[in-house]
Amino acid sequence: VTPTSDTTGNNSIAKLLLAFDLDGPTGDLLSSNQIWRYPGQFVFGSYGPHRALPRILDILRNYGLRATFFVPAWVLRTWPKLLQRVAEEGHDIAGHGDRHELLFGKSQDEQSRILATSQTTFRNILGKAAVGYRAPSGDFGRETVRLIEEFGYEYSSSMRGGERPYYHSDSQIIEIPAKSFFDDYAVFAYHRDPNYPVGLDRVASYRQAFSSWMAEIIAASYEGLTIPTIWHPKIIGTPGRAILLDEFLGELADNPKVRILGGDTIAEEFKRGGEHA
Ligand SMILES: [Zn+2]
Repeated sequence: VTPTSDTTGNNSIAKLLLAFDLDGPTGDLLSSNQIWRYPGQFVFGSYGPHRALPRILDILRNYGLRATFFVPAWVLRTWPKLLQRVAEEGHDIAGHGDRHELLFGKSQDEQSRILATSQTTFRNILGKAAVGYRAPSGDFGRETVRLIEEFGYEYSSSMRGGERPYYHSDSQIIEIPAKSFFDDYAVFAYHRDPNYPVGLDRVASYRQAFSSWMAEIIAASYEGLTIPTIWHPKIIGTPGRAILLDEFLGELADNPKVRILGGDTIAEEFKRGGEHA
């Protein structure tokens, strides 16, 4: 394959937005107060902050890598010290709703209330508002772009299907579109009773999943593309997967064709014209 250059001058360098969605047990069951009837589901979610996140932070520190953590405000309020540690270790902590709400289809007042609660929680616990936002489920309407701008966000990594950052129309919000292919739920998530994700009754081979991701990132370097991950600590941070994650990040950290970055840095570079030193 012949490497090509892109319009921003980033010849043959892929940017990997290393993003983890620290959802914890938030979601529809928590929002509707039903989760207490499903202790298994609660524990499945809590495993992320409780057990998997410290393991992932150790791996990142070992390679000197900076990541973005998209975190619902409920998780910040429930594990404040843990998230303060994430901030102290220099990572980008970004918004992901209050209890992982799907904004699409909600009234503007309701959306504003959720975004306000989230930013207030960030200020209270981390001392500053979030710069990045990822819409749970990856959907939002046009009005949401205006609202997230109003609440001080600068970038979003919510949409699917693009391969480079862009500005949302009539807005200063930078979108860093992700790909469902890089969602670890699609290969590794499995919970029974209730079955979740619905229809996925077994997980992929660990090594094959990592090697597919590697193939996409190396190919992205030929075209100078940007790839955000949609990884969840509770899924990718089990002891066995964490060993492969460690290997995977170690290999990429040594690859001069790949830059591993937080979303705030990618947005900043895009704002400045995409160039880097
Ligand atoms: Zn999420």
